[in-house]
Amino acid sequence: MQVGTGQPSPTARGTFPGFSEEAGLDLPALTPRLEQQITARLISRDFDAWATTAARVGHCAKPIRLRGHSQTIDTRTGEVLSTFSSADAPLGVLHVRCGNRRASECPSCSRVYAADTFHLIRAGVTGGKGVPERVSDNPLVFATLTAPSFGLVHGTRNGRPCRPYTPKGLPAVCEHGGATVCHATHNEHDELLGQPLCRDCYDYRGHLVWQWWAPELWRRFTITVRRALARHLGVPESRLPDVVTVQYAKVAEYQLRGLIHFHALIRLDGPKTDDGFAPAPAGATAALLAQVIEQAVPGVTFDAPPMHDGDPIRRLGFGAQLDVRPIKTKNRTDDPDRELVPEQVAGYLAKYATKSATDSTKENPHLRRLRATIAEISDRIDADAREDGTPLRDNPYGLLGKWRHMLGFRGHFSTKSRRYSLTLGRIRGRRARFQRLVAEANRQGRTLDVRDLDDLLADDAQEATLVIGHWSYAGSGWETEGDAELAKAAAARAREYAQWRAAAFKAK
Ligand SMILES: [Zn+2]
Ligand SMILES: [Zn+2]
Ligand SMILES: [Zn+2]
Repeated sequence: MQVGTGQPSPTARGTFPGFSEEAGLDLPALTPRLEQQITARLISRDFDAWATTAARVGHCAKPIRLRGHSQTIDTRTGEVLSTFSSADAPLGVLHVRCGNRRASECPSCSRVYAADTFHLIRAGVTGGKGVPERVSDNPLVFATLTAPSFGLVHGTRNGRPCRPYTPKGLPAVCEHGGATVCHATHNEHDELLGQPLCRDCYDYRGHLVWQWWAPELWRRFTITVRRALARHLGVPESRLPDVVTVQYAKVAEYQLRGLIHFHALIRLDGPKTDDGFAPAPAGATAALLAQVIEQAVPGVTFDAPPMHDGDPIRRLGFGAQLDVRPIKTKNRTDDPDRELVPEQVAGYLAKYATKSATDSTKENPHLRRLRATIAEISDRIDADAREDGTPLRDNPYGLLGKWRHMLGFRGHFSTKSRRYSLTLGRIRGRRARFQRLVAEANRQGRTLDVRDLDDLLADDAQEATLVIGHWSYAGSGWETEGDAELAKAAAARAREYAQWRAAAFKAK
């Protein structure tokens, strides 16, 4: 189905095909009910109000509705500069973005999240957004930490045959009658990718226990790296913060086999100071950091407690596959052959931060078995808890069932150490401030001086106005599913436009 919309007219020169009169929005195959809802919206008397509202929240798929009012007050004089009430909003209720990280939930908000994540990761590499530029002199590496094997799975192997040889110590046919070799060459769309050669041989419980404790393994990894650094630099561990500090930003990414990888930027800063980001001491180089990480990873272990009576203790660690590379910045030329450009890495990390288990992995028998195993384990834990009366929270796996949709990964998808760069909250604060400054300039009929914008945005303490509001939650989402589809289609068009504009700009 294609429909016309209240999209704004183009602001850039040239013609974006998506804004021509003939170009409607591309909507997916719709049910008759959705089609009816969309048609009703398009011919409704408040369509303009709806379109304005949708545009204001960036065509968020599931905005939050608020009722209430707020006042903007001059902090020096106490004067009320402006008032705003949700009753004055086009639809009589205030809509705000849902802010969801996942692209499958809200394409528009996940793009904002990815952009914010990109900026905060990039600021820790090159400086900017209030982070001093000298941070780009500090040693930095990009590391990928993987999960170990829990059984043979199919893979692309860069165009080579999947598993041409039976691994040492295994029979050619497993006890379930499955082969332990695969001569096929899989392309990247092959449904078999990431699936075990034999599901009955695959260690589903070990897989889930590893995923459950992955955040703990990461924590132990950072401790091990600090310890090894202290040894290499010849300082007692307790004194390490006086010499060097380790900062990182990391994201978790699902692989096809349903296990996460950690991708991380790890940076060496000098001693902790008030403004942070001090230069690293002589001898603390990216090469040393890479060496320390490579040596540390195999030694990181955790003995995971049993899930229930009769379950073994499992010694967990990272997989043998490990990739550690120094990052090039304008001042860094450590290793010309293995260099990565900061923008590449920041973009890469930001992209993975918006994915979820279901985005990167297609539904298949392997993932169903993983979820079934989670259900089976949770049932057993529940039954045990009922029997001996111990509360569920006392079992370290008591909440496993709640993380079924995440395939048992309970960590955050994107985390960073406290002094890596600025926080998402500060990036959002800067954006809100920028919007207020623009609105204020518009009100006073002047243009905003962008030369000292960074200073203007940086200092929240100098905020001359205060917004006081009383808001109550009125629900979330658009009135109908049809509205949500319309918003998503408009968000997709806005994205195409941004890409077209970027391409046109590049071509100049
Ligand atoms: Zn949203
Ligand atoms: Zn295969
Ligand atoms: Zn088998």
